[in-house]
Amino acid sequence: MRTYFFERRAEVIKLTKRQDEILQIVKASGPITGKEIAEKLSLTRAALRPDLAILTMSGNLDARPRVGYFYNQELEVKQHAEKFLHQQVSDFKAHPIVVEKSTSVYDAIVQLFLEDVGTLYAVDEEGNLAGVISRKDLLRTAIGNQNLNELPVSVIMTRMPNIVTIRPEETLLEAAKKMINNHIDSLPVVKEVDDHTYLLVGRITKTTITRAYLEIMDQKLG
Ligand code: ADP
Repeated sequence: MRTYFFERRAEVIKLTKRQDEILQIVKASGPITGKEIAEKLSLTRAALRPDLAILTMSGNLDARPRVGYFYNQELEVKQHAEKFLHQQVSDFKAHPIVVEKSTSVYDAIVQLFLEDVGTLYAVDEEGNLAGVISRKDLLRTAIGNQNLNELPVSVIMTRMPNIVTIRPEETLLEAAKKMINNHIDSLPVVKEVDDHTYLLVGRITKTTITRAYLEIMDQKLG
């Protein structure tokens, strides 16, 4: 059974089978009168009245006098947008591209191109997050610096405790906020080992968020 919002009362209700049938009819054939809906379901207009009242009150249907019932597409979009934002990071995280702290800036640039990513993560011997190296970090270093083969990324990376991280159980909404508020393109997904020590388990990027959004909207509305 589908779940729809009683938006005005901010509570979630389960629709009955008949209410769901009515919604599908209006979705396919709206605007449609109560009389026409009743005919399609072989019911009397009076028998349908309570269900139509519930669907209108909840905002799933709109009613216009002398025209009929409309399906409220806006509410459906809103519900799916909400659903999207509350997805967990763990379900969408991508594989992180990592380098060792001792990797040269030159090799890091090569790695960035080979892996086709915008950010690399530096890890220590245990796989714990040590630093973030972005495109701009590498570009800044490359301008005017002759010795990219000798310079380790540990010298130029953004390091702990300045790294903004996200945990697998947090939501895409929280991930999006952290990226926008900190003006960064990606977040390392981490599990806390102990104070200031985080195991790197994935990455979330602005592209991940956009892809997740399209997937969920396409599935539900497509
Ligand atoms: P770009 O360099 O391609 O614009 P970002 O906007 O992600 O990529 O990075 C901007 C700066 O922020 C860089 O110096 C980078 O090291 C740093 N940075 C990137 N991601 C993070 C993060 N999760 N936490 C802290 N700093 C970050």
